Amino acid sequence: MSRDEMSALQGKRLHKVVSYVYHNVPFYRAKMQAMDLNPDDIRTIEDIVKLPFTTKQDIRDNYPFGLQAAPKSEIIRIHASSGTTGKATIVGYTRKDIEIWSECMARCLTAYGVTRDDLFSVAYGYGLFTGGLGVHYGVENMGAAVIPASTGNTEKHIGLIRDLGVTGIACTPSYALHLAETMEALGVRKEDLSLRVGAFGAEPWTEHMRKEIEERLGLKGYNLYGLSEIMGPCVSYECECQNGSHICEDHFFPEIVDPATLQPLPRGKEGELVFTTLTKEGMPLLRYRTRDLCSLLEGECACGRTEVRMGRIIGRSDDMLIIRGINVFPSQVESVLLGIPECAPRFKLIVERTGNLDALTVQVEMRQEYFAQGFDTLAPVTELEKKVASKLRGVLSISARVQIKSPGTIARSEGKTVFVEDRRKLQ
Ligand code: ADP
Ligand code: ZN
Repeated sequence: MSRDEMSALQGKRLHKVVSYVYHNVPFYRAKMQAMDLNPDDIRTIEDIVKLPFTTKQDIRDNYPFGLQAAPKSEIIRIHASSGTTGKATIVGYTRKDIEIWSECMARCLTAYGVTRDDLFSVAYGYGLFTGGLGVHYGVENMGAAVIPASTGNTEKHIGLIRDLGVTGIACTPSYALHLAETMEALGVRKEDLSLRVGAFGAEPWTEHMRKEIEERLGLKGYNLYGLSEIMGPCVSYECECQNGSHICEDHFFPEIVDPATLQPLPRGKEGELVFTTLTKEGMPLLRYRTRDLCSLLEGECACGRTEVRMGRIIGRSDDMLIIRGINVFPSQVESVLLGIPECAPRFKLIVERTGNLDALTVQVEMRQEYFAQGFDTLAPVTELEKKVASKLRGVLSISARVQIKSPGTIARSEGKTVFVEDRRKLQ
């Protein structure tokens, strides 16, 4: 599609989605009325800058279904991603949403060179998380065969990859490295496998990791980006040029804004990525602030696709961490600690990569009054560590090592009460 055709299509779709949310989502109607905006004021894609932004907090404030535009009877699937303080972000999909999602995902796979002859293993988590089912439907849509491996049970998975002659795999880049490591420990060589293509995403990764994965698994690894609020995996994908990721912009319109002023930034400048869903029915979002920092690349891609490309995610404009592919907010840890009388809400998160898996350590200060009661002896501390670890697991969905510290021993970072030490060196 030429750029002019694309802009015309986007403008038409934007007008439609704006009228749709105006009439079906009280939150958007109120916002637009407060700005004296009418759906008819939005005619071309350039008019998008007139529209209000949406944040994760807005979704949270309208928990669980307040931002849903489609009636309950039209929703056929629900996914969820982690919220900032425990409450999840709930996303409902209509039948048409699922169709568009699988079509966009099939578009990504096609760009990776996957064909109907491929046997594709999906090792993202299946469940509320969008990774597993999102890629699964895309593989089926394009006609390759899917193996719903999910995560865990790595040894059995390697056996399947070898015995069945699996040619493609989708998982987080860190899981791909874990797979390589387990393979080596089992004495399985990459030559024993038929892997040739990998779709890696859901967490940031580097060019260095790509080389290592490609070398150790004997495949070509492509980036896959997405987020549940907008759809799930399929929002952008790398083509054979591997120079930025093409955005499915006929469905997800991207903007880059300055995270402080919210002013749109010109092509090529780094800032916060913002998406407007152009065709979604279940939970359409206007100008959703992803908090992901990146740029939209200038110039045409040598592959011939005209869809705009985004560069790698270089960071976040909030404090969200991605640990083993799971979103973790320091505020979730704080909310757990506030519910445990022995603990002060003073803590430090340490994220490390041991082997190829992320490990989270949470250091927590004990409250002075408990400490003074003789809690500094070993047994009660171990008990407390176990209790905190179990509560954290319930809220974060990943396990963390907990270390209880004496009062006043955790260094305070200036101005912030939360201190995160990310030792993974992903940038
Ligand atoms: P997902 O199922 O894709 O993990 P979530 O909504 O749980 O969806 O998390 C989305 C976030 O994950 C994105 O906003 C981004 O920070 C991160 N993410 C997803 N894919 C990538 C990728 N390919 N590279 C870097 N970060 C990614
Ligand atoms: Zn391209």
